[in-house]
Amino acid sequence: MSSIFDTIHHRLNQAVEHLDIPEDIFNSLNYPEKTLAVNLIIRRDDRSFANFKAWRCQYDSSRGPTKGGIRFHRSVCMDEVMHLAFLMTIKCAVTGLPFGGAKGGVSVNVKELSEHELERLARAYIKAFASMIGPDQDIPAPDMYTGGAVLAWMADEFDRIHGKKYRAALTGKPLSMNGSQGRTEATGLGGYYVLKKMIESGLCEDKTLKIGFQGFGNVASFCARYLAEDGHHIVAVSDSSACLYNSDGLDVEDLIRFKDERKRFSDYEKDKVDILDPDDVLTADCDILAPAALADQIHGDNADQIKASVILELANTPVTEEAETILQDKGVVVIPDVLANSGGVIVSYFEWVQNRAGDYWEKEHVFERLRQKIEKATADVVNCKEEYKVESLRTAAYILALKQIAEVIMAKNVDN
Ligand code: NAD
Repeated sequence: MSSIFDTIHHRLNQAVEHLDIPEDIFNSLNYPEKTLAVNLIIRRDDRSFANFKAWRCQYDSSRGPTKGGIRFHRSVCMDEVMHLAFLMTIKCAVTGLPFGGAKGGVSVNVKELSEHELERLARAYIKAFASMIGPDQDIPAPDMYTGGAVLAWMADEFDRIHGKKYRAALTGKPLSMNGSQGRTEATGLGGYYVLKKMIESGLCEDKTLKIGFQGFGNVASFCARYLAEDGHHIVAVSDSSACLYNSDGLDVEDLIRFKDERKRFSDYEKDKVDILDPDDVLTADCDILAPAALADQIHGDNADQIKASVILELANTPVTEEAETILQDKGVVVIPDVLANSGGVIVSYFEWVQNRAGDYWEKEHVFERLRQKIEKATADVVNCKEEYKVESLRTAAYILALKQIAEVIMAKNVDN
């Protein structure tokens, strides 16, 4: 079985062979700069103790302070944290943000914690990693099962430790604690802008599109809403219980209302809507498939059954390397995660900028700045694909990122 470092090495290698980068620099990017692993101990409500493994990885800080979310999930492990920190490094460089990449995580099933226990865990995480965090050092954000409430406890704990108000030390904070307008919509809206720009660039056909979404949480639902407003047909959506399909298009606003009531798609009963197995969304008859749930969903065993001609990677790493080769042979265009889901980190960057300036923007302004930034990144990736004559948009994105990272490393180490 290949390790995450094989994957990282493979991805970097595909890009670096088109660049004139010293081998030492390439080698240095194959492994993180710093990873800290700790054991967090908290009191349960019944006064017993519980402990959890936790990590923070700062993958590369050449381009600026590192940035990346903190994930609370049972399956989190050090390899996953390092891999996601690597992706953040590439994502920040592709989008031109002045950040390096980081990630954090705790191996915990949050459903087994009371609210008070969750708060103790959030505060314990910040105590353990406080010396690594700061507005000019490493800026955490939310990820799976760490929403605004967890970030509020974390930001408060960071301020308590330092005895002063650090508004820009964490992003993804609630609006009441100096968060940014538009963060909730950011990743889905960013994916929509990327797809529109790809259509404009001729990489996707300009027509009324049939689109399928795997997952229908925060990211997919906003992206689906904006695409439906443009007249495209959302023909398939899924959650872990079922896939809903209607070849004429589903009613997106009704789906959003249904999900807001915390219901499962297997219980969605409407005329002309077929209820299928969850995985059927991947092979549904559509032009665009947007995986927006989990990693490794399109793999060697199902890639040749994909009917879509474009895959918009809203989740992180939903397409395995093996699948990507099969898809490429079939002529399927994969819009890579490091671009497609970068809207979230872009608006996190806007939050950091607003916190530092003490000047807070209207939502329309956030959306407009997001559109400008992500459209530029999309155009840069498309131009890079043409300039270097590479097959895949992922390789183009990695070339773009690596060029910038290597340039900074070389500029800083001229005489060494
Ligand atoms: P979410 O928790 O709001 O939604 C996830 C959705 O996936 C839910 O609808 C859930 O039912 C569904 N799901 C889970 N297992 C499934 C399965 N086996 N089959 C089909 N659906 C399944 O999460 P989100 O914030 O929308 O994030 C979605 C993905 O995008 C994640 O991979 C996340 O890491 C990635 N991402 C999110 C952001 C962000 O800003 N939220 C930014 C970058 C990347």
